Amino acid sequence: MTDATFESLGLSAELAGACRKAGFSVPTPIQVQAIPPLLQGQDLLGLAPTGSGKTAAYALPLLQRLVAGRQHAFRRVRVLVLVPTRELAAQIGEAFRQLGEPLHRPLKVAVLFGGVSVNPQMMNLRGGADVVVATPGRLLDLMERNALRLDTVEALVLDEADRLLDLGFAEERDRVLGALPARRQNLLFSATFPPGVQALADALLHDAARVEATAEERAEPAIAQRTIAVDAPRRTELLRHLVQQAGWRSVLVFVATRHATEHVARKLSDRGVGAAALHGEMSQGGRTAVLRDFKSGALEVLVTTDLAARGIDIPGLQVVVNYDLPRSADDYVHRIGRTGRAGASGVAVSFVSAATEPHFRLIEKRHGMRVEREQVAGFEPVAMPEAAAGTGGVKGKRPSKKDKLRAAEAAAGLRPPRPPGPASSTGD
Ligand code: ADP
Ligand code: MG
Repeated sequence: MTDATFESLGLSAELAGACRKAGFSVPTPIQVQAIPPLLQGQDLLGLAPTGSGKTAAYALPLLQRLVAGRQHAFRRVRVLVLVPTRELAAQIGEAFRQLGEPLHRPLKVAVLFGGVSVNPQMMNLRGGADVVVATPGRLLDLMERNALRLDTVEALVLDEADRLLDLGFAEERDRVLGALPARRQNLLFSATFPPGVQALADALLHDAARVEATAEERAEPAIAQRTIAVDAPRRTELLRHLVQQAGWRSVLVFVATRHATEHVARKLSDRGVGAAALHGEMSQGGRTAVLRDFKSGALEVLVTTDLAARGIDIPGLQVVVNYDLPRSADDYVHRIGRTGRAGASGVAVSFVSAATEPHFRLIEKRHGMRVEREQVAGFEPVAMPEAAAGTGGVKGKRPSKKDKLRAAEAAAGLRPPRPPGPASSTGD
């Protein structure tokens, strides 16, 4: 860790004040590394763990450059942030507004995403905007309606860059890139960066700084990772048992399909758990409402798909449950990274059955870890090869953090608290 302050990184007193107001006392490692080169206008690839403050790492220097830049009679879009989901667009737009709020020169932030009426977004773009945060589809729609132009963009950010660079976004992404001026600052941020997207990244970036803040540099404890061996048909019952027995307050549950989100949420609410589903076929109003209710604590459990795996910041989220396992080892990182953010502790529980055991093994192998398969009394699997409780195994790579992890686990009710010892704060 360094003794950097927001001012020592080159940020104005106004922006440093905005950080304090947001509750940021010191910059995180990715902020320390990324802010100075970004203030210089450099291209940058920023890799840092989930929940480590990547949004402010780019929002702060870009806001400073916006304020310092020439003022035009009409607002032009000077910063464009592309994100893969609507919820993330709303969240990042809010972060720009919050951090930019105390600036002497008021900046306008427009958030553009699909699933809601296009007219208010068009109206909002009259008179221009300084910062646009958008999902690619709605952005293209608005460009076609001549509601905005991108030929004045000075800085492009791809947040969750590897996702935006993967095949699913290829066509939309390339159309957006084609509308941008060739000379611009390019910023890519993510917690994961598979080798397959490197070539595309190289094509986007020019003389880029590559900054990497590893998990080891984080001041906060990592996420306590657990697995529970359970037969697939009993997962919902086990989930309810865990939520009710352990008194979990804020639980994000990942399942494989939209149908399963509704099914599991309904089963839980039938049994007295405050649960709801969040998936991509719901109306955007419904999506926004359940996320709001979950963040406010009105809902204890949100059952979702990989729609909510990336970027979403839910302060106070205690537990992530992989009811169905994620497809890839990178998806695992993003899913469990919805907890344990910004210095908080968190717990991630994956349900593993005999059928999914080999898949979880692969995830473990990719991350060089081995998580003990636990069993819960009354939910012991009928057939679970090699997965009896207490097979031991290497538990994480940072034994010095064991006590903190245990404390987090105990707080989440997964195992009885240890007798008082050093570093046993639950960080709550
Ligand atoms: P990432 O994009 O790396 O996953 P976010 O940018 O969403 O992380 O930030 C995670 C949380 O950390 C947010 O709630 C954010 O407000 C908070 N945060 C950001 N920077 C700091 C900081 N310097 N100190 C404390 N909290 C911070
Ligand atoms: Mg992020």
